[in-house]
Amino acid sequence: MLKELHKKLVEGETTSEKLTEEYLLKIENADKNIGAYLTITKELAIAQAKKIDEKIKSGKTIGILEGIPGAIKDNICIEGVRTTAASKILDNYNAPYDATVIKKLKEAGSVFLGKTNLDEFAMGSSTENSAYGVTKNPHDLGRVSGGSSGGSAAAVAADLAVWALGSDTGGSIRQPASFCGVVGLKPTYGRVSRYGLLAMASSLDQIGPITKTVEDAAIILSVISGMDKQDATSAHSSEKAYEKYLTGGVDDLKIGIVKEHIESLNGEMRKSLEKTIEKYKKLGADIIEIELPYSHYALPVYYIIQPCEVSSNLARFDGIKYGLCFNDNKDGEIKDNELPKKLLETYLDSRQYGFGSEVKRRIMLGTYALSAGYYDAYYKRAQKVRTLIRKDFEKAFSRVDLILTPTTPEPAFKIGDKTADPLNMYLADIFTITANIIGVPAISVPSEVIEFEKTKLPFGFQLLGKWFDEETVLRGAHNYEINK
Ligand code: GLN
Repeated sequence: MLKELHKKLVEGETTSEKLTEEYLLKIENADKNIGAYLTITKELAIAQAKKIDEKIKSGKTIGILEGIPGAIKDNICIEGVRTTAASKILDNYNAPYDATVIKKLKEAGSVFLGKTNLDEFAMGSSTENSAYGVTKNPHDLGRVSGGSSGGSAAAVAADLAVWALGSDTGGSIRQPASFCGVVGLKPTYGRVSRYGLLAMASSLDQIGPITKTVEDAAIILSVISGMDKQDATSAHSSEKAYEKYLTGGVDDLKIGIVKEHIESLNGEMRKSLEKTIEKYKKLGADIIEIELPYSHYALPVYYIIQPCEVSSNLARFDGIKYGLCFNDNKDGEIKDNELPKKLLETYLDSRQYGFGSEVKRRIMLGTYALSAGYYDAYYKRAQKVRTLIRKDFEKAFSRVDLILTPTTPEPAFKIGDKTADPLNMYLADIFTITANIIGVPAISVPSEVIEFEKTKLPFGFQLLGKWFDEETVLRGAHNYEINK
């Protein structure tokens, strides 16, 4: 997709401005029904596109991403652009600087169409926790697009953007990608700078691409990855052109599978995963059964560590430093002759009215788990189990190159189906969360469309790789995609 559009631009078959206008028009017509975007950055997009067209006209060569319009999840800062994290508390907040990934994308000449919807502060699996409404699944408007990067996944799936960025703390790139039938890659923790990503759970968060093809994901990763001094956890890994590592087949690869994963799936989903495994066998990969006994605890470990980090990260939203301030007249302004509320009341009201219920639930859980007397029982123990899970994977990766799992237990669920039951919602991430707990790269690739609840819906599978081995993850995924 990216390569084809690049060719069209270079050969003068279209211009970046025309392409951008086409996408903006499509958004205007179709996004009323889907709700993928929170903000459209039309002026910025056209200005970026014009600059690239001038470059092409003057005979200069352009990079592969130059002039091609994409979308950015609304928890990533673009200087001067409204950045809400889908929360009321940041309703009219304009980012004062560019995230490192945005800086890199600007340098690569990409065009930003707008900011996409998400669950508030990226907490959720359906975008139903957004303060600005749910993003509907383009394959069935009665279903969710997944979350938290549901807006980005739906935008790419409905062709309202060529590519998009998401963030993934427990599955937020891969789960919506799977629900919407597109590709989603969570890179190794530390591969992509988190500077300018609104922090949710800092030891788990990672930015990554959502695209139509694996090759496109590789291209975007090449642009956004790399060491960044602004992010203390950014890794000193060498920068690569990942798209160069896609070819070469998979017959040298050992792929691990876990029997319980397959057995846990029902009907069509199970058939689909078995077909994918057969496909890899046919392509020459060695399929090896492995065991990951501690991964069973990944979900409970996540729901201790994640809320703890949330409670600490979200302490900064107090109505004073950022965004909405609920003082006397509740609209963020103190009238001339009015005395402002007491400081504590302003904090409390701003947080009470500014945050939605899921965010408050996590803050409360995290504050409780971190409090004196409970820290050892919850947080410390969760960190110990985290190490055990990591050891499981180290052992497995001494035998295999990749691990193949479902991305989700089921395809996209209906809007409203899980909102009353947070635990049921949390289970949507059962297969994706482990990659964040231990920091390895993982990709969701669409397999075939399956019949579920009498509806044809996309379903995906996931490949996990060794730490900093995105090359093999992408190669494994690409070879499936082109032989599907
Ligand atoms: N659904 C998970 C949660 O609610 C993961 C979210 C994410 O990856 N940002 O926390």
